[in-house]
Amino acid sequence: MARIAFIGLGNMGGGMAANLAQKGHDVRAFDLSAEALARAEQGGCLPAASAIDALEGAEAVITMLPAGTQVESVYSDAVFAAAPLSAILIDCSTIDVATAKRVAEAAQAKGFAVVDAPVSGGIAAANAGTLTFMVGGSADAFDRARPFLADMGKAVIHAGTNGSGQAAKIVNNMLLGVTMVGTCEAFLLAQKLGLDAQKFFDISSVSSGQSWSMTSYAPLPGVGPDTPADHDYQGGFATALMLKDLRLAMEAAQGAGAETPMGARAAELYERFAAAGQGRVDFSGIIRLLGGK
Ligand code: NAD
Repeated sequence: MARIAFIGLGNMGGGMAANLAQKGHDVRAFDLSAEALARAEQGGCLPAASAIDALEGAEAVITMLPAGTQVESVYSDAVFAAAPLSAILIDCSTIDVATAKRVAEAAQAKGFAVVDAPVSGGIAAANAGTLTFMVGGSADAFDRARPFLADMGKAVIHAGTNGSGQAAKIVNNMLLGVTMVGTCEAFLLAQKLGLDAQKFFDISSVSSGQSWSMTSYAPLPGVGPDTPADHDYQGGFATALMLKDLRLAMEAAQGAGAETPMGARAAELYERFAAAGQGRVDFSGIIRLLGGK
């Protein structure tokens, strides 16, 4: 069992840190929020007075922070100053690819092994320890990070070099945003053409229009498996988080000179939905923006 510094104990990090503690690790936890810190203590972690304090003697450093700015500042102000050089650095936050690569380069220049390891799965998966991790880094750094990630998830996949985990995450979520908007449109058009929604689901979910958005996350209540649509679009994956990932994808596409017209359109629609005060609503609720009831 290892000593782990865990920084960022919010909706996701709180459950992840608790799972590591439950697996027997010595988890030194830090968050700027006293409330988050208290929850981590209840989950079996040892609360630290500062990030520097949490980092002392750490064998692994895990960060789960809102965005690239926080990751960059925690790394430059605390991790580089106080983490032992022997520690494996694992950033699980979803951040922009450019910052992920910059942080990794800075860490490697100082002699650290580092990976980006963003997650698929929401708060429920973080609490249950069933996240999927997509990991960017060298084969050696991946091997060192894997056992810690395995203690918090059901799958740990090596995506490629540093930054590849973030790339996989935002490209996957861009595709998810696009297929969700398309699935919503398809259901609404089907209704207007007089097709029964359940019949359309039965056909499309085993036909070529099939996608995860259709079969596992149908955006209409009473159709397909139980989804947030059956709970007034509460729970699930918040529109604000989908928008965050789409913005990251658009930023990355621009930087890489990639044409992503469908991703851009999905980002625009989620932008409008969030601006209408629906940021906390599940992302499948976008069907309402498109004319659904
Ligand atoms: P959150 O806002 O609930 O938690 C972030 C935590 O970081 C907060 O508790 C905040 O106080 C803390 N923090 C911020 N700056 C800090 C600093 N300098 N030092 C210490 N602590 C600091 O966010 P979340 O929902 O837990 O998401 C975390 C990351 O995971 C994000 O990058 C998000 O995009 C990604 N993610 C979230 C979900 C989800 O469903 N919530 C799913 C997949 C990925």
